[in-house]
Amino acid sequence: MPVDLHVHSTSSDGSATPEQLARIAAEAGLSTFALTDHDTQAGVVTARRAAAEWGVEVIPGVELSLDWDRGGMHLVVLFLEPGPGPLQDRLADLRAGRHRRNARIVEILAELGIDISLEEVMAVAGGESVGRPHLATLLVRKGVVADLTSAFDQYLAKGRPAYADRARLGPEEAIGLARASGAVSVLAHPHTLGLDRAEEVGDLLERLGAAGLVGLECYYATYEADQRAELADTARRFGLVPSGGSDYHGEYKPGIELGKGRGDLAVAVEVVDELAAARPPGPRAPGPRPEAGR
Ligand code: AMP
Ligand code: ZN
Ligand code: FE
Ligand code: FE
Repeated sequence: MPVDLHVHSTSSDGSATPEQLARIAAEAGLSTFALTDHDTQAGVVTARRAAAEWGVEVIPGVELSLDWDRGGMHLVVLFLEPGPGPLQDRLADLRAGRHRRNARIVEILAELGIDISLEEVMAVAGGESVGRPHLATLLVRKGVVADLTSAFDQYLAKGRPAYADRARLGPEEAIGLARASGAVSVLAHPHTLGLDRAEEVGDLLERLGAAGLVGLECYYATYEADQRAELADTARRFGLVPSGGSDYHGEYKPGIELGKGRGDLAVAVEVVDELAAARPPGPRAPGPRPEAGR
């Protein structure tokens, strides 16, 4: 049975609730999916409870946007148990940074004559990690743009008039925190890094590998078969596990299905075994916790 190691819920910018994801995963025939919301693990407990009823396994995770000026560097962190921990303890700050950034975007939009309030943005989001897709949704609803893609192209993407930056973790810092938390780091969708030369990608993988990076996202929904194979080859050459997932966002990313991507995605369960085997040793759950003894 296939797996999906990159999935978003309503806790961040996905449109399916954690419970709905459990059901969709079961219907898609997945044995396992990783819940990797941006900067939050709020959906993990619910997703796990719901998934257990469907016989589906949930890997707790998170997706982080890192400091990288060439493009977008995202890290998918897997096997990160919710609760206190070195990385877990930083997530609230990252969400606070999102909140300040969103307020700034609302301000810029007002200067551009577009009336959106921060309260409206939070209401659209519903979850605790609020992002640009929620702002984009309001731009569509208010008739400012035709669709989500245009909202990014015209206003919200880096370099566009309503873009505002936010505080991020550095790559080494994030990978180190993930390791210290007993989790495994995967470099997400490498096409967004803004690196076009193979040597640059190689240098980066070497650098991040030395910091403790475990995997590279090769089986990504929007990649062609030859691109996936080539990336898997690259991953192996740098001692990384070829990982994969759909980056499912429901209605926020039309045309992408959980587990199946555009229809041709199928990540093998062996990937989970290989990533799990690379989990760092040491304490994963610091001290006794209420749910201990399950
Ligand atoms: P944020 O984390 O709030 O900065 O928003 C980033 C998220 O917006 C990404 O994870 C994607 O889900 C989405 N996104 C980024 N760029 C685009 C784009 N050009 N079109 C549609 N969605 C995008
Ligand atoms: Zn997202
Ligand atoms: Fe991402
Ligand atoms: Fe994602």
